[in-house]
Amino acid sequence: MRKRILIIEDEPGVAENISYALETEGMEPAWCGTGREGLEKLEAGGVDLVILDVGLPDADGFEVCREIRRTSGVPVIFLTARKDEIDRVVGLELGADDYVVKPFSPRELTARVKAVLRRAGNGEAADKATAVGLPFDVDEKRLAITYYGKRLELSRYEYRILRTLIRRPGWVYSRDMLMEIAWEEPGSSMDRTVDAHIKNLRAKLHAVKPEVEAIKTHRGTGYSLRERW
Ligand code: CA
Repeated sequence: MRKRILIIEDEPGVAENISYALETEGMEPAWCGTGREGLEKLEAGGVDLVILDVGLPDADGFEVCREIRRTSGVPVIFLTARKDEIDRVVGLELGADDYVVKPFSPRELTARVKAVLRRAGNGEAADKATAVGLPFDVDEKRLAITYYGKRLELSRYEYRILRTLIRRPGWVYSRDMLMEIAWEEPGSSMDRTVDAHIKNLRAKLHAVKPEVEAIKTHRGTGYSLRERW
């Protein structure tokens, strides 16, 4: 099946070059010029990977990525132009999978796209991400997560937090990062709210499998999903 790639980029010339390169590689590109359009297209489903420009006319790419990550684990590759943007992307605090610095060759980008798609799991629809090798199954459409085959009853925030941790087992997420990813208005919540949600999540996971410690606390830094299962 041809991979569907959503390009969110406001410069038609750049988008056209990318589209052409992707088509040459047998992929199916779609183009949006604004973050809003991009999010709508993504919501309609069937997108395997997103190429996201940081500088967009209606929102910055970081905002758009954060919005995507609230509901979807679809792979994201950033297009960046400036040093400060690169620093933020490299921090990977936004859950992006890779980035390419402008100006780039279309060939370089398509190579990255292919590598990220390979990593994301061959042929699997990106919006129903199964966590490979983990006892979790994430249903992005229904915002539901099962654990050892049992469906968890999760609040919206609990879903977002657990979804985030599952994406990168072993990665330590600070409370700030989890808040940025999970909350609509990060500024309006306190740190300990994250702790409270983690506590509830742990209780729900324990109810399914009392002997397994799924979420690790890293004193002073944050939380991670257990790395080895
Ligand atoms: Ca731009």
